[in-house]
Amino acid sequence: MAVVKSRKKCPVVSCLRCFRKEKFGKDVPPCRLQCDADGGDPKWYQTISRLGFHSMVGRWHISDFSKHVVSSKGLVCAVAIAPLVEYIKRRKREAKTIELADVCVKVGVRSKTRLERADTKYPCIVAIDCENPARKMYRMIDGKHRVHRAVSFNEKAVRCYVVETRELEPFVVLVHAPALPSDAGTAPDSGDTPINEWLRRHSRSL
Ligand SMILES: [Zn+2]
Repeated sequence: MAVVKSRKKCPVVSCLRCFRKEKFGKDVPPCRLQCDADGGDPKWYQTISRLGFHSMVGRWHISDFSKHVVSSKGLVCAVAIAPLVEYIKRRKREAKTIELADVCVKVGVRSKTRLERADTKYPCIVAIDCENPARKMYRMIDGKHRVHRAVSFNEKAVRCYVVETRELEPFVVLVHAPALPSDAGTAPDSGDTPINEWLRRHSRSL
């Protein structure tokens, strides 16, 4: 597909919508990320990758999204956070206080610096009734470092913007799997690995 050729070094192929349109034709909602306009904006990847991605691979896959790419080896779905944040701000959504016991969070951080810089004054993003390995009411989409920091201060709740799974869909992109961290598909969840235990075990290695 043209989008792939125009971005050889870019780890992101296109948005899920444009990918589906290419593969399955019509009946796909229009692109919300302008990933396919005129072969793509050269700054497109920088723009969407500014705040990173929430990968949905392995035990963290979401069937609603991955069913469209199951035949395409080497590509996995991820939510592009920056355009999702812009969408939430445009909608002027209010943040809510959510109990961490109700949220499935990817457990583990790599950098002490990122942990210390995490600022809980910025609300996290959770998706409600969204597939997750811990079978919790909410799935954390953005804010893993803020949650690890909050837990290290014994906090039991965090401020979050709540979105529905269908609201994530326009911001799902396809990423070449090797561009993701090696544990993207296997990372433990806060249901089976309490974050405070993880922090205690890894406090020296961070
Ligand atoms: Zn697109």
